[in-house]
Amino acid sequence: MKQYTVSRAERIMIAIIGGGPGGLTLARILHVHGIDSVVFERDASGDARSQGSMLDLHTDTGQAALQAAGLEREFLAAARGEGQDLRMLDHTGTMLLQEDTPDDAPMLRPEIDRADLRDILLSSLPAHTVRWGSAFTHAEGNLLYFADGSTATCDLLVGADGANSRVRPLLTDVEPTYSGKVVVQSSIRDADRTQPELAEMVGRGNYWAFGPDRMLGAQRNGNGVVQVSVSIYGPSDLDPAAATDLPDEWAPQFRRLLAACDEPFVVRPAYLLPIGMTWPRRSGVTLLGDAAHLMPSHGEGANQSMRDAAELAQAIAAHPDDLDAALEQYEPAMFERTAKVAESSAEVAKMMSGPDAAKKVLAFFS
Ligand SMILES: Cc1cc2nc3c(=O)[nH]c(=O)nc-3n(C[C@H](O)[C@H](O)[C@H](O)COP(=O)(O)OP(=O)(O)OC[C@H]3O[C@@H](n4cnc5c(N)ncnc54)[C@H](O)[C@@H]3O)c2cc1C
Repeated sequence: MKQYTVSRAERIMIAIIGGGPGGLTLARILHVHGIDSVVFERDASGDARSQGSMLDLHTDTGQAALQAAGLEREFLAAARGEGQDLRMLDHTGTMLLQEDTPDDAPMLRPEIDRADLRDILLSSLPAHTVRWGSAFTHAEGNLLYFADGSTATCDLLVGADGANSRVRPLLTDVEPTYSGKVVVQSSIRDADRTQPELAEMVGRGNYWAFGPDRMLGAQRNGNGVVQVSVSIYGPSDLDPAAATDLPDEWAPQFRRLLAACDEPFVVRPAYLLPIGMTWPRRSGVTLLGDAAHLMPSHGEGANQSMRDAAELAQAIAAHPDDLDAALEQYEPAMFERTAKVAESSAEVAKMMSGPDAAKKVLAFFS
């Protein structure tokens, strides 16, 4: 039986579980409004694990949140406008669409490395805002329990702890279900030097090749890495080779791209929450980001998470002495906005799969 230090539970006004894009944005905007919070993050430190690939942040969501956080300048310095480039092909290697971003193009959806975004947010917070190595396990009333045996009490608990949220069960029994699709991922390090021909083929941004039963994607990151992935329907424990052994009709350049990857391919099954999921209001607890609305990963998840954070921070700042009123301002609007976005993300997911995906996506972009 684990021993908890309940008698010495620390008192906190706003406890945020999870230091992803949503949780850190919330802590930062609260700080801008002079409100302290504590972020409990299970990672042992800011560089405990690779943050993965790029995020494209949109003007009305991710970028608007960074504006509210007073971090627009830092974002623009780290963002890559050329990351908006897109090359779209079919599996025979025929180029269907090539969009290169002019140098003076507006930064509508620039890409930023996840690690850079995390660094910008972390360095904008007062020291000790983030408690590393603090995995939240459960709560009893307003008493929070962590895996290291520590406890804390809070006035408002915010679950920003992603797809497998441990806070979500306090509000609903609904759990994410497997979408049927996996993304099988690896990467090429220092691609310009080690694989110049493939690096040139992928270009400065996104490279998508659509085949009858799978999509191959490659994406240029800011640090010379090219991320490579294959999205395919199959069991959640699919053997990666079933995705990366391309059928004969695929052009050889795609096989070369997969063969050049440095790391073993990792299978990431995609889980989803039901579109339009809500929960009955509960005083002192709420959710944001993937914890609240896990949707297909088509460029909206982090953006919506950061917008949730901005709206929740603004609601708390408007009602610092009445957190129920803050939730009344935040939750219904968040439910309505994210249900619509989840609906359109599901449509994009449908469009990007199936034997005529290339045709449908091309028509969409045209
Ligand atoms: C391949 C891929 C590509 C994507 N591309 C994009 C894109 O281009 N644009 C976009 O907007 N979205 C994109 N997304 C979606 C995006 O990554 C997520 O929607 C986003 O990260 C959600 O942010 P979050 O802060 O809500 O949760 P997360 O980023 O999942 O952060 C949750 C944090 O909580 C911590 N945590 C979890 N459990 C606990 C616990 N019990 N105690 C303490 N800490 C805990 C985790 O360690 C993590 O740091 C993509 C997703 C995938 C899979």
